[in-house]
Amino acid sequence: MVMSFTSRTSHLKPEGAYQVLARANQLEASGRKIIHFEIGQPDFDTFSNVSLAGIRAISEGHTRYTPPAGMPSLREAIAEDAGQRRGIHIDPEEVVVGPGAKPALFFPTLALVEPGDEVIYPDPGFPTYEAMIRVAGGVPVAVPLVEENDFSFDLEVFDRVVNVRTRLIILNSPSNPTGGVMPVTDLEHIAEKACAYDCWVMSDEIYGRVTYEGLVAPSISSIPGMQSRTIIVDGFSKTYAMTGWRLGYGIMPRALADRVGLLLTHSVGSTAQFTQYAGLDAIRGPQDQVAAVNKEYQRRRDVIVAGLNDLPGIHCRTPQGAFYVFPNIKATGMTSDELANLILEKAGVALLPGSSFGEHGEGYLRLSYATSIETIKLGLERIRAVLLN
Ligand code: PLP
Repeated sequence: MVMSFTSRTSHLKPEGAYQVLARANQLEASGRKIIHFEIGQPDFDTFSNVSLAGIRAISEGHTRYTPPAGMPSLREAIAEDAGQRRGIHIDPEEVVVGPGAKPALFFPTLALVEPGDEVIYPDPGFPTYEAMIRVAGGVPVAVPLVEENDFSFDLEVFDRVVNVRTRLIILNSPSNPTGGVMPVTDLEHIAEKACAYDCWVMSDEIYGRVTYEGLVAPSISSIPGMQSRTIIVDGFSKTYAMTGWRLGYGIMPRALADRVGLLLTHSVGSTAQFTQYAGLDAIRGPQDQVAAVNKEYQRRRDVIVAGLNDLPGIHCRTPQGAFYVFPNIKATGMTSDELANLILEKAGVALLPGSSFGEHGEGYLRLSYATSIETIKLGLERIRAVLLN
């Protein structure tokens, strides 16, 4: 049979992290000991109260369909918790629960973007943004994140590209891959333009609780007048180390939430019921483990940033959030692909080239420090040996 596929899917490619992981696994299978800095997920186990709540839910028979947009009790808990953290009022009907945060990115995009509509997104950025814009038929318009601004938007470029055809502006703070947090002044600037051009804003806040030195990452939804045009994307994967449970949510105006609920109805159906019970416990239960984990990430961040800055040809800013560093490697004279490959093949250290997050990621690497300090130190030593050779 001749295989032919739709043009709306022809641009899709795997996430860089999965490709590097596959090569790292191959090397491991051949007996090499590989150090993993490529994986974007917490290395901690799901908090035990949360796991136990999930197990209890299964044993009590909570293994059935739920309403497509989520169990009412979970939507209520999310509305209260997410609203209180951002200083806004959220109705439970504005919360749409899904299997991970990704559906809260994908489905609102499908519901809002017509073919030909322009969508602004951060570059370097999470690869799903460009993928979902193109699947929807939209025109992706990249805005660079600038290192000198701690990887916030290049507002000059933003001002040039935002226009009447812009339907949606995607923000991600704290950011994957840079760890940068957008300051409130930048958010205010973007909010003003979003109102002037009447566009939607999608604010991916999945790393919103992973911040350092007491910083609270501002949400554009808290700026007066913005909630009615903002989709907040958040979830449980990073905050509660629940990546494999698949639980996330979007918060958006009621009419859009209803439309996204219909897309869920006809695609995933609903999110696993026991997963939702576990999520309920995560929100309602003690939050001290979130703070403890962040403290540990901060120790690791300080070790990895200091270690990277000590390497020839590399300099690295100190990110304020997420568990990624995004060192500048331009002075090595290599492309990010070349250096990432060299480090994997020669040093046995898996990390990602910045270019896998977009054109403006060239000249950088992404390392995830969701791993032990001992592993971080060993990885840095190995990288040093390769760079000095
Ligand atoms: N948004 C960003 C910026 C991410 O880095 C990720 C996962 O890596 C997601 C969304 C997706 O989260 P989930 O696994 O809950 O679907």
